[in-house]
Amino acid sequence: MKKVAFYTLGCKLNYSETSTIGRIFQERGFEKVEFTDTPDIYVINTCSVTDNADKKCRKIVKEAQKHSPNAFITILGCYAQLKPKEIAEIPGVDAVLGAAEKFQLVDILDGFTKKEKAEVYASPISEANTFHNSYSFGDRTRTFLKVQDGCDYSCSFCTIPLARGNSRSDTIENVVRSANEIAESGVKEIVLTGVNTGDFGLQDGERVETFFDLVKELDKVENIERFRISSIEPNLLKDEIMEFVAQSNRFMPHFHIPLQSGSNKILKLMRRRYQRELYADRVSKIKALMPHCCIGVDVIVGFPGETEEDFIETYNFINGLDVSYLHVFPYSERENTLAPEMPGKVSIKERNRRADMLRILSEKKKRYFYEQNIGKEFTVLFEDDVKDGIMEGWTENYVRVAAKYDPVLVNEMKHVRLTGINAAGLMEAEETYTEVLKH
Ligand code: SF4
Repeated sequence: MKKVAFYTLGCKLNYSETSTIGRIFQERGFEKVEFTDTPDIYVINTCSVTDNADKKCRKIVKEAQKHSPNAFITILGCYAQLKPKEIAEIPGVDAVLGAAEKFQLVDILDGFTKKEKAEVYASPISEANTFHNSYSFGDRTRTFLKVQDGCDYSCSFCTIPLARGNSRSDTIENVVRSANEIAESGVKEIVLTGVNTGDFGLQDGERVETFFDLVKELDKVENIERFRISSIEPNLLKDEIMEFVAQSNRFMPHFHIPLQSGSNKILKLMRRRYQRELYADRVSKIKALMPHCCIGVDVIVGFPGETEEDFIETYNFINGLDVSYLHVFPYSERENTLAPEMPGKVSIKERNRRADMLRILSEKKKRYFYEQNIGKEFTVLFEDDVKDGIMEGWTENYVRVAAKYDPVLVNEMKHVRLTGINAAGLMEAEETYTEVLKH
């Protein structure tokens, strides 16, 4: 039995796809092993958003060769689609597969026999037009379920449409079937994942279903206790979705909404499809419906043309929003996008300074959000990671709760009262029935 090991860079979507490719290998009689377990084959799933994607890819290939010098090394994922030839030149790489080919790799690379030169199978991205169902499983307590892929937007900083192709989706029927399958394996929480998740419902360029239809149908899947919407564009977060989530017991009060900038001038240069007023309106509406809701924000700082005044406008805008945490990204040039050609380049040092300022603001926002939840009761789903005898779990509204490790708690839902924030910034809690979780 040949052994295969995986390495994933990047986002939840990549994790769900690596996991699915792993199951394809297992169905075909391969054994899935750890990276260090001298596998016969390595599959490295790359990301194009990661800074220094090339450097990281080389490093992982080197590590793989160290652990298993004769292994067949395959590279796939977004970076493989964007730069197949460059990757094929990396010493040790045996095959590179693009977006349209990655799920067929066991057939394409029949036998995984090393050749003199790396094999490249990467069709133009326009050929990546089918949807391949994927979900992560066995790696985490939560499962990331891919419901949508690709993106038809053209944000001027983003390379994802070039790496993943046009927007396309699974059908509601298939997603519900996958959710039931996942439930049978004992998973309690599903995170809905996509490139532009709110754009769910396009089949061959035609809108046949909507994200709201999907949410309503998934809400009926009885054996999944929690669904989380991983990220949704503000212009696609419709009132009906917020109102539905507010009354649902299965959809968690947690939204992650990319903002990217709090300056309308920069939003326009970024080619985003909303202005800051719409964003503020979405946040107010959510909070009016669900005061305890957690709201995460993505922000890019140092975009070309962003002056100090524009940045301060963003800072003040976010400071005034009732949001719970930020994911901050210093702007980073990507080939074949419009932004690098724009005037007003911001120095790397300045990008990092602005990012640091927003990261401090994020800590303050998070602290404030956590403090507002102290004394309240929630249900925590505990995960299976243990560090220094401490395990963690998440409340409905994404407050991270620490507890003394107890194997019985893994993948269990416990009703708790939040008692205070510890030195590590995690919430402590006591069970509202018998066990005291506070350590
Ligand atoms: S919405 Fe914009 S940032 Fe998001 S994937 Fe599409 S093009 Fe990229």
